[in-house]
Amino acid sequence: MPEFLILLLPIAAASGWWAAKRSVRKEREKLRNAEIDPAYFRGLNYLVNEQPDKAIDVFVRMLEVNSETVEMHLALGSLFRRRGETDRAIRIHQNLIARPTLSSEQRSQALMELGLDYMNAGLLDRAEALFSELIDNNALINTSLGNLKIIYQHEKDWQKALDVTRRLEEIGEEDQSGDRSHFLCELADIALQEGRDEDAKNYLKEAGETAPEAMRPLLTQATLSLQQQDYTTALRLYQRVAETHPAFIGEFVNQMAECHRATGQEQAWLEWLKALYQRRRSLYVMLAIADEIEHSEDGDEAIRFLNDELAANPSLLGVQRLIRMRLTQQGSGKTTFLETLDALVQSMTDTQSAYQCHRCGFTTRTLHWQCPGCRTWGTMLPTSENNGRYSE
Ligand SMILES: [Zn+2]
Repeated sequence: MPEFLILLLPIAAASGWWAAKRSVRKEREKLRNAEIDPAYFRGLNYLVNEQPDKAIDVFVRMLEVNSETVEMHLALGSLFRRRGETDRAIRIHQNLIARPTLSSEQRSQALMELGLDYMNAGLLDRAEALFSELIDNNALINTSLGNLKIIYQHEKDWQKALDVTRRLEEIGEEDQSGDRSHFLCELADIALQEGRDEDAKNYLKEAGETAPEAMRPLLTQATLSLQQQDYTTALRLYQRVAETHPAFIGEFVNQMAECHRATGQEQAWLEWLKALYQRRRSLYVMLAIADEIEHSEDGDEAIRFLNDELAANPSLLGVQRLIRMRLTQQGSGKTTFLETLDALVQSMTDTQSAYQCHRCGFTTRTLHWQCPGCRTWGTMLPTSENNGRYSE
């Protein structure tokens, strides 16, 4: 190596050191510029630890400093909505949408959030318009359709609920034929109330084809036939429901009795009930048998039957029926004790729930096709009001 080159080595080393130092300084500067406000992490930390109150305080303070952070606005709006401060959530999301710099994805997200705010505030028309706009823009279609389905059910607009449910299935959502069958039954109920029996029949037929295992279309058809005094058809339909959904027999056992009596088939009815009772110790079948014995034979025999059955399967409704049979036998005027007992048992049965949602546990005294608690269709099942000894 020539000598002068050796002399240059320290200079090269120094310039290399200087260049490296400069590059490190630049990197540090870049990092400093990109540094995220520590408050942001503090806020996130509160969120992770499920302390939304503190998180909101932090984010609100940050918002004044850094109002350009779209994601944070979205998160904040959502937090306000969850806290029930819908007005504030709406303001945040409306401001966000007004920004021209939003990407189409961010705008869709903000529209979705605003739609949810409106739903929360009960402004369903506005929410519907936003979700429809999203669908028209091919954005967040599944969620928008799902929200529209909730809105239309709330508004009892069953035809629209039916349409959006069909669209949800078309775009790959899970089968919702059970819900669709209920919407058709709702349309049938409205048609019946308005005296459009033919329309009702068509809706019920479609409801039955939509969900062949469903109880409701059969039961409504049976009720319609009974109203039209077509006892044979009504009975055939009730028997089908009894076979497919025996736990619900309490809903229609009296109607079945009416059909049998109207057609003079009391004996066949009693035999049918007894055969069913052999297979299934149902409280309502037991009561129907007691009623039938009382009607066709005599009160003593009915009371004996009830006494025996209640000893094996005690139930409040059974005791009440027993008291009333005794009251009937003894006539009026001399039965103060039994009347007091009857009133007492009545007050106890008044507070009993007959149905419970197997999804959320909500209990009701009458059968609701849609659970009033979780708004799911077809989840109410008869409760065991006798400690499970009956197979209801
Ligand atoms: Zn429920």
